[in-house]
Amino acid sequence: MKLVFIGPPGVGKGTYASALSKIYKIPHISTGEIFRDEIKRETKLGKKIRSYVEKGELVPDEIVIETVKKRLSEDDCKNGFILDGYPRTLQQAKALDEFIILDRVLNFVAPDEVIIERISGRRICSQCGAIYHVKFKPPKVPGICDICGGRLIQRKDDTPEVIKRRLDVYKKQFAPIIEYYKEKGLLLEVDARELADKVIPRVVDLLKNYGFYPKE
Ligand code: ADP
Ligand code: ZN
Repeated sequence: MKLVFIGPPGVGKGTYASALSKIYKIPHISTGEIFRDEIKRETKLGKKIRSYVEKGELVPDEIVIETVKKRLSEDDCKNGFILDGYPRTLQQAKALDEFIILDRVLNFVAPDEVIIERISGRRICSQCGAIYHVKFKPPKVPGICDICGGRLIQRKDDTPEVIKRRLDVYKKQFAPIIEYYKEKGLLLEVDARELADKVIPRVVDLLKNYGFYPKE
């Protein structure tokens, strides 16, 4: 089962991808993670892409395409994969079609308000990095980490204004990609308004309609 996951920041795409990768026993391939790992290991590729990733800019298409091509040709991808973070441009989408036949593209959607509430309620422990949510996963004592007693902080870019701006950028960037997959008849929309424990079983049910079942 060869899948691409698409969705706005804060929709929970990474969480769904890693859970579903265990359920179907296929690798979760995140280009963001690959790039961060290459940077950490100071590889040749890592040095080339570092400045883009640190500035939050897109890595040039030819580098991303080459990286994904190489990763998808590895043995563990033979029976399928979940691709997360790729494609981000129409050119990347078209390049993928030249060496892979995708089964489906899952588009995770939720209204802006839901995403804004999710991200702006997020709190992070300043000491151990544990993640909380003021409504969905509150700490026992407000503002204090359950695990280490550290002070909880909000990331600077987790404010409603910044999130709204990121959502607008996302919509502009992904409209042509979504249209591309829609025209190919590959696009499936997944309602991601609810929490992950509700969304994941719904994806499993949805994929059964297309003949894809969890691996025992
Ligand atoms: P974010 O949602 O913060 O962009 P990611 O983990 O998806 O996080 O990606 C981190 C960084 O890696 C991006 O900011 C970008 O520099 C680079 N990157 C990841 N995927 C792609 C891609 N498909 N095309 C271009 N750049 C990418
Ligand atoms: Zn902590």
